[in-house]
Amino acid sequence: MEQVSGCDIIMGEHTGRNRACHTRPIFSSARRALPTMSDTEREALEAGDVWWDAELFTGNPDWSKLLDMPAATLSAEEQAFLQGPVEQLCGLLDDWRINWELRDLPPEVWDFIKANRFFGMIIPKEYGGLGFSAFAHSEVIRKISTRSVATAVTVMVPNSLGPGELLMHFGTKEQQQYWLPRLADGREIPCFGLTSPEAGSDAASMIDRGVICRGSYNGREVLGLRISWHKRYITLAPVATVLGLAFKAYDPDHLIGNQEALGITVALVATNTPGVEIGRRHLPSYQVFENGPTWGRDVFVPLDAVIGGPERLGQGWKMLMSALAAGRGISLPALSAAGVALAARTTGAYARVREQFNIPIGTFEGIEEPLGRIAGTAYLLDAARRLTCAALDQGHHPAVTSAIMKSQATERMRSAVNDAMDVHGGKAVMDGPLNYLGNLCRAVPVGITVEGANILTRNLIIFGQGAIRCHPYLFEEMMALAEPDLKKGLDRFDKVFWRHVGHSLITVMRAFGRSWTGGRLAPAPDIGATARFYRQLSRYAASFAMVSDMALLTLGGRLKRKEMLAARLGDVLSELYLLSAALKRWEDEGRQDADLPLLAWCMETGFNTIEVRFADVFANLPNRFVACILRFINQPFGAGHRSPADALTKHCAQLLLDPSETRDRLTAGLYLGKHEEGLARLERAFALAIENEPIAKRLRDARIYDWRAAKKSGLITDIESERMAALEEAVAKVVAVDDFAADALSPTSKKPTLDNATLASRSTGAS
Ligand SMILES: Cc1cc2nc3c(=O)[nH]c(=O)nc-3n(C[C@H](O)[C@H](O)[C@H](O)COP(=O)(O)OP(=O)(O)OC[C@H]3O[C@@H](n4cnc5c(N)ncnc54)[C@H](O)[C@@H]3O)c2cc1C
Repeated sequence: MEQVSGCDIIMGEHTGRNRACHTRPIFSSARRALPTMSDTEREALEAGDVWWDAELFTGNPDWSKLLDMPAATLSAEEQAFLQGPVEQLCGLLDDWRINWELRDLPPEVWDFIKANRFFGMIIPKEYGGLGFSAFAHSEVIRKISTRSVATAVTVMVPNSLGPGELLMHFGTKEQQQYWLPRLADGREIPCFGLTSPEAGSDAASMIDRGVICRGSYNGREVLGLRISWHKRYITLAPVATVLGLAFKAYDPDHLIGNQEALGITVALVATNTPGVEIGRRHLPSYQVFENGPTWGRDVFVPLDAVIGGPERLGQGWKMLMSALAAGRGISLPALSAAGVALAARTTGAYARVREQFNIPIGTFEGIEEPLGRIAGTAYLLDAARRLTCAALDQGHHPAVTSAIMKSQATERMRSAVNDAMDVHGGKAVMDGPLNYLGNLCRAVPVGITVEGANILTRNLIIFGQGAIRCHPYLFEEMMALAEPDLKKGLDRFDKVFWRHVGHSLITVMRAFGRSWTGGRLAPAPDIGATARFYRQLSRYAASFAMVSDMALLTLGGRLKRKEMLAARLGDVLSELYLLSAALKRWEDEGRQDADLPLLAWCMETGFNTIEVRFADVFANLPNRFVACILRFINQPFGAGHRSPADALTKHCAQLLLDPSETRDRLTAGLYLGKHEEGLARLERAFALAIENEPIAKRLRDARIYDWRAAKKSGLITDIESERMAALEEAVAKVVAVDDFAADALSPTSKKPTLDNATLASRSTGAS
């Protein structure tokens, strides 16, 4: 038998004769072991494309591909829109009134949004839309999010997964010409109904159905669908004029072909169609964007209602997944980046002006720690948002990176907003018009749940889809194994399998060399201060490629059920992506030295997470022998990287406590309030605190904590005392919280009363 040399394998030069000896038995057993995959799973896996995520999966990313990519930018028209209509819209919004008084956007805001075509940001100009880039779309949502989450969600939904996007990509010409101009100018309000009570995360298990039949439509007998559905949680449903509906189509009478079950289909149903019911409103986490259920029984629509026409019957899942691959990378990451930037700006300012124990709370290390985290997270998240938008604007539909973005962005928003709430103490807990954070905190679970709930996305999607789509060989191998024609399948498999083996051997050597030298020999662009970060990332990419291969080899299809392991590997991939984005931001912004501590903080934190996740994978991989080898190769000296040094965290915190270009870069493009609003008060007090810092310092040094006493003792002049009085007043306005008349909070009873059961239990001492 001819021997296969390592070199043959590495070069992929395996002859046809070897195939019989080596490939056929591997092919046969791999085919038997291949987990069954439903059509919907396959379509979800195949959706979108790959890009930098695939480069990371090679284990040897080519950094020039990342660095050569053009940065996301705005056109002059997009900039003008942000400075014009978006600024005006923000000025019209009063979040407290929207949430607690109106429980809706005011009519003038709805009109403004429609008139300025906010609902048509993604619709091309030829159909009357704004035809904006992904980055412009993201910037608009980001700015509105800092003002009103309900408004941001209202604007984002028609521009995200839904009728508009589906029509643009899959609609017939007639559908596009009819619907797109009407959606762009707000004559039609769309919503998209996928989720039903029984089918949430497993949306493909829906029982909503459409049966092909003949029926009467506009006085004519036509072929159509009789659709029955019950959907819930549908954003904009209560005000929608057109429903995008996902249901399973059936043709029991074979009116269009031999197949009975046609599969998931998406159609447009006008809400004034007889039989369409829109239910009462849901109230998601007290966010008052319109959301509610809808149902219908045997609602008849012609086949033309199917998006893309009758030939798209049964293709709905594929269409949805490909639309999700792009949309998920824009809206929620923009909202999350806005939340983190707002947390950074306000928490830094508040920690500067709020004093306890006679000094600003921002000088306590306990406060510096969350402040540093918020600052680093703001840098990282916005970097990733920009990079993802840049990829989308280059024409990519990156399914894996958009899943990373959705879950990581919302998760990091959650932690940054929690930190911000903690630093603000009671100020952010007390609700009212002066509270600029509380509502954002309530909104967090919405972001976590929608567009693929985070637990599912982290545990199942990121690594599961990433491994198959981004791995250099796995997808092709799986396609070969699934090939019904055995000979063809073997041929395809043979071509790729030995290249995979060669790749794996090289990866093991790479991971070994880079790990044992602490990444010092790993490749990096010649890029000065940040080269060490590239080296570490190159090292971890090699380890990730190796560990992924071994996990896939030892667990095969079982990895799908080993969600905790898959989640950890997904976390490593996510870190590699986010950290690449931070490095790219540093370059795109012209290597701002003052921002280097933030970049370093992101890197140190990310490296630490990667090391911890690897250690947990090694500790839990069922094949203990392989786990030991993996640990020996990749963590020869233990899980080495510690979290950022305290001095670095303090430095990052300081960047939020002082005005600087770095602080402005981190928080650029936010709406900072007007008049006596809470945010505007905070901005004013912060500016005064900075201006008067030399006077305040003189007082502190003299251990005099009241400017009145300082004035009396001659330590400060009259003018200085006036300035301190103005600062004191401004700070008092920031620290103030709202209160309400009892009957404003409880209209039915003027005074809070205890019910009889509680009174009885108190008098007997029972708890
Ligand atoms: C405010 C809001 C707006 C929405 N807007 C719309 C809309 O416009 N249109 C629409 O169609 N839908 C909409 N949804 C629905 C949303 O997409 C679903 O809520 C989401 O898909 C999760 O479904 P579920 O809530 O039923 O949770 P479930 O599916 O019951 O999930 C519960 C938990 O189990 C986890 N889980 C499920 N499967 C797995 C698994 N295999 N592995 C690990 N964890 C798993 C989930 O991550 C989640 O944490 C909206 C929801 C909300 C809350």
